[in-house]
Amino acid sequence: MNILKTRFLESACIFVFLLAGIFIISSCSTSTNLVSDGKSNYKIFVSESAGLPEKNAALELQKYLEKVSGCKLEITNKTGGDNKLVHIGFSEAPESILKDLDTKAFGNEEFIIRSDGKTLLIAGGNTRGTMYGVNSYLADYLGCRWYTREVEKIPAQPTIKLAKIEDRQKPAFEYRQPYYHEASDTTWALHNRLNISNMPVSLGGGYVIFPFVHTFNQLVPPTKYFKSHPEYFAEVNGKRAISQLCLTNPDVVKVSVATVFDWIKTHPDANVFSIDQNDFAGFCTCANCKELDEKEGSHSGTLLHFVNQIADTVAKAYPNVQLQTLAYDYTEIPPKTLRPADNVMIRLCHYAYCSAHPLGKCDDHKQYVERLEQWKKISKRITIWDYYTQFNKYLMPYPNLETVKHDVKFYADRGVVGLFAQGNNVPDDGRGEFTELRAWVFSQLMWNPEQDGQKLVDEFVQNVYGDASGYISEYIKLLHDQVKPDSINFSIWTEPEDVSYLGIKTIQKSDSLFSLAKNVAKNDSALLKRVERAYLPIVFIKLYLHTIGGDDYISEGKLAETLNDYKRIIADNRITRTAEGAEPGNISKFIEAVETAEHYVKDWWIIGPFDNEERKGFATVYEPEKEFDTTKTYSGKNGAKVNWKKYPGEAIGFVNFAKSFAVKKNVVSYAFRNMHLTEAKTMRFGVGSNDGVRVWINGKLELDRPVLRKAVPNDDVISVPMKKGNNTILVKVDQLGNKWGFYFTEKK
Ligand SMILES: [Zn+2]
Ligand SMILES: [Zn+2]
Repeated sequence: MNILKTRFLESACIFVFLLAGIFIISSCSTSTNLVSDGKSNYKIFVSESAGLPEKNAALELQKYLEKVSGCKLEITNKTGGDNKLVHIGFSEAPESILKDLDTKAFGNEEFIIRSDGKTLLIAGGNTRGTMYGVNSYLADYLGCRWYTREVEKIPAQPTIKLAKIEDRQKPAFEYRQPYYHEASDTTWALHNRLNISNMPVSLGGGYVIFPFVHTFNQLVPPTKYFKSHPEYFAEVNGKRAISQLCLTNPDVVKVSVATVFDWIKTHPDANVFSIDQNDFAGFCTCANCKELDEKEGSHSGTLLHFVNQIADTVAKAYPNVQLQTLAYDYTEIPPKTLRPADNVMIRLCHYAYCSAHPLGKCDDHKQYVERLEQWKKISKRITIWDYYTQFNKYLMPYPNLETVKHDVKFYADRGVVGLFAQGNNVPDDGRGEFTELRAWVFSQLMWNPEQDGQKLVDEFVQNVYGDASGYISEYIKLLHDQVKPDSINFSIWTEPEDVSYLGIKTIQKSDSLFSLAKNVAKNDSALLKRVERAYLPIVFIKLYLHTIGGDDYISEGKLAETLNDYKRIIADNRITRTAEGAEPGNISKFIEAVETAEHYVKDWWIIGPFDNEERKGFATVYEPEKEFDTTKTYSGKNGAKVNWKKYPGEAIGFVNFAKSFAVKKNVVSYAFRNMHLTEAKTMRFGVGSNDGVRVWINGKLELDRPVLRKAVPNDDVISVPMKKGNNTILVKVDQLGNKWGFYFTEKK
């Protein structure tokens, strides 16, 4: 039946040939296939006058069509004859395919893939449109994928059908940068349609922001001006300081205008020039700045007042130049009456809010979302700087994929024009948890946020982890399930000891999932390496928790093996930095901390809280300093009845008062325990506290530190003569704000 049908079609072709000549038979004999069984009579046309990006786009298409079909199509710059052509770029494309297209109207990243079943046109605006068109054709029509620098998927298709296509696309955001190591690779970024700043001109260039961020010191260099003109700089606590600028000083505007004009002249490639505050506090509090900020209800008042003046001058000389400034930290609140000038873009930063839940899905984002809406009302254009990595510890398991999956669309729906998704890109390689996955999902969503984020995650996991993907998916789900409730939240700065999702059971379950995954991957060294990299955060966190007394996180006798795993995976992946702004050598310091981890003293009784208004409680002798009696009840803060209770065993060595007591402000609490020794000896104890601490051993005050600090094990070390038999240890810690508790180690 099939054979008969084919023969009938062939004879129909010949019939057409006899009637209408060569042109018709030509289209008929190849039917609608671009490539048939690895052979093609198509050529790739690109005009001789085309720019380098289009010529490279033609090469890119040639390379991947050959990978897909086994057929290398010739590239030509000649039209006419009986050539069947794939047209790359609008130049010299026949009217029959261009038809109604206004080719000049295409934006610089916009393209069309058009096929009438005979001719294929892939063309777009200068400079990157055509290149993106080619990559989109390969991805959307031939199923090609570039998941990581090592893993690409190129489905083999000896026959490629040329169906009718009418597909015009442009990205949802004009600026798209997931800040992960993967995405700084220009080949990878191009395939995934990102416009990172280091994209070479030959590939269409990238989106350049100059200077990139926190630019006050470049605008008015303190090295040049601070000595002669301290009044250009911020007044902080009554003194001029090198922190921020004095934004209401007209001379600062003059100097800044000159600098910006110089930037514009020397950086003609830049899309945007950035005028923004330095990355610390210290805004100006001089009379003028203070008055304006108070009037505007925000420090964005003086900032916009300043930037707008520069923008007005720039607009007269360079009407097409865009400036931008930050709405970040102390400038996040929009001003009451001022409005950004038309040529000033606002770069709003979602700094240190909840990372567990997508925007709009939990209360923690409420204030930020309101501010975004307010900024939107008063600004023509907004870009976003958002944070999708763990700043303290890049390698800490970080279940924030819900934000990755949903936030891009949230921003697109609100008309945001650019998104910088801060990951952990560092000069060499600071890969955190699933950085390649995050980079890939972001790149897809930044182009088209209507895609289903979970499907993208699943696709990546299946293709990158192959036979081990089931276990990896289960691991991802295991962590994310725990942070679903609204009540659970963590930010980019939250420490492992303060999150709820790193309990021993979770870590053990993760360990067994990865051991199954590694087993499946054991005969494929490349896959095994990828699985091990996915496993690294679990290895890291076990070791880290071990350094703070989490003895049960590593099974008996497995410490050396776990540490060796860590060292090997770090070296294999050339990971050189593991935290934002970490000093070089922090990896070796961490290894040393694991190797020299102390024994943490646990099993405490605790009592509190007692009053500590004006920090008077630190020196007040409350009843627990006089006696340890678990049967007695005392009067605590605000007259509440308090008594000694057993501190519930924690997996780590931190005695967390903040978790134990309802009242957590301006208070002080105690911990007590006995220590039995079979012989008298001098012992050394390490103490770390948040905040001030006193330690009595056998009733004698051995440590008195009225400090305000973050608890770090062994900040203080005391040497104490201990008795044979029973010894008493009493610890008192006061609380001024935030975290509250202490570490107590028995030094080796
Ligand atoms: Zn000032
Ligand atoms: Zn939340």
